[in-house]
Amino acid sequence: MTFGEGHDDDEDSEVTVAAVETEAGQAAQHLTFFDQVNAAFDQAAKHTDHDPTLLEQVKWVNSVYRMSFPLRRDDGTIEVIHAWRAEHSHHRLPTKGGIRYALNVNEDEVMALAALMTYKCALVDVPFGGAKGGVCIDRRNYSKGELERLTRRYTAELQRKSFIGPGKDVPAPDYGTSEQEMAWIADTYAQIEHGEVNVAACVTGKPVEHGGIQGRTEATGLGVFFGIREACSFEDDMAKLGLEPGVAGKRVVIQGLGNVGYHAARYLQDAGAKLVGLAEYEGAIASPDGLDLDDVMEHRRRTGSILDFPGASNVEPSLRALELDCDILVPAALENQITSENVGRISCRILAEAANGPTTSAASAAAAKRGILVIPDVYLNAGGVTVSYFEWLKNLSHVRFGRMQKRFEESVRRDLLNAMSSATGASFSQAELRILARGADEIDLVNSGLEETMATAYHHIRRYRKKLGPDVDLRAAAMVLAIDKVAASYSTAGIFP
Ligand code: NAD
Repeated sequence: MTFGEGHDDDEDSEVTVAAVETEAGQAAQHLTFFDQVNAAFDQAAKHTDHDPTLLEQVKWVNSVYRMSFPLRRDDGTIEVIHAWRAEHSHHRLPTKGGIRYALNVNEDEVMALAALMTYKCALVDVPFGGAKGGVCIDRRNYSKGELERLTRRYTAELQRKSFIGPGKDVPAPDYGTSEQEMAWIADTYAQIEHGEVNVAACVTGKPVEHGGIQGRTEATGLGVFFGIREACSFEDDMAKLGLEPGVAGKRVVIQGLGNVGYHAARYLQDAGAKLVGLAEYEGAIASPDGLDLDDVMEHRRRTGSILDFPGASNVEPSLRALELDCDILVPAALENQITSENVGRISCRILAEAANGPTTSAASAAAAKRGILVIPDVYLNAGGVTVSYFEWLKNLSHVRFGRMQKRFEESVRRDLLNAMSSATGASFSQAELRILARGADEIDLVNSGLEETMATAYHHIRRYRKKLGPDVDLRAAAMVLAIDKVAASYSTAGIFP
């Protein structure tokens, strides 16, 4: 079945169908990450009436490139590096997805994350197929020079097999990578494709001075905030959880203070939420009175650890932070953090999945059964790819958002305000005129586009959930919606019935 826009906003009970486990029992625990994504897909697909062959086409990864290449270390020794890039779906081009540098990167993981990217892009109406890349290293063991050589070689490998390009496949930052790596990728690609006018659009998440866009660095965390804020805005949903509507005053625990976790924490704190627990790989800290994020980060910079923060208690091992009593738990580090083993001990009302795949399907089902509202990763961390889409558009148009219209808008508004003053006798000070007449800068447009995207998508998923009935949770509703959207593009192309 395919539901369009315009369904009622309503509530239903917090029961899950991410529940691979209800049918497969403990076996679900042994599923690989990609198996789990596909199990959720199969479960969701039961709520559609798409042709089975079409569903199979949507589900499988279209192409995977596995590569091994030598890296010369600073001490002169040679190390063989293993890396991947998976393109899950070519129903829209380019494909899009981050590159992660981590020791647990493997083929299954990049395939799973690439598939999630397809569904994520569909949910937020970003016209890309899903992809993901990974390099199997712990970046802390490499110098900056080694990381640069490795990143440039990885880019050359991708280019050799047509796994990168503005209209082919466009990487972005992910766990363990940052705008620095994206700048190296863009520069390497530009050297190979000398003279190609759209080279900057071959990768997103670049530094602004290297063709990036204002707001991309914080986009995923800000999107996480917008998603949580939207979920908390429904009075009836919050009442079922025993919570007041709104973010202000909510007690929040965050795991991972990297790009996503730090920015999500910052926006939540700015909106009046109380950070009662923060976790990093070296340990975690808690304080029922709340922790000031920037003070904690400064303490970590100074001492090398978040532990022993004045006024807070240490929580060790770090994973125990997930069990702290709170209203909103935000895992923002890695996948498989909440499993069947620890889900019974988590003590939150809302589980906001900022990381990709932080909760196993069995644990997600168990959490939902306990009445916890799980806001799924496939929606919640879509802010990054949304702003990457804006960056890609900026690179293709070769003009900064706001450049053409900002001054024009300002002069039209000033004329209007002056006309109002003449007609009514009201006068505005220069300071008031500056505020009232201000035209939008790039950052204003990016953040407003992101806010609109996250809010619209949440409402759409929530309406789908309502229509699908009481046995369907937000994760499953999001998956059904994503399947419908991807399937629609194959159907309208006339490939499948
Ligand atoms: P990051 O490397 O910037 O930050 C990850 C943080 O988690 C680091 O500070 C790291 O020290 C910490 N960490 C690692 N292991 C931990 C542990 N066991 N306990 C607590 N903290 C731990 O990565 P990121 O870009 O913030 O990505 C985090 C997650 O969000 C990943 O799952 C990623 O796939 C997902 N994501 C990222 C983006 C993006 O735009 N960066 C977009 C969508 C999804």
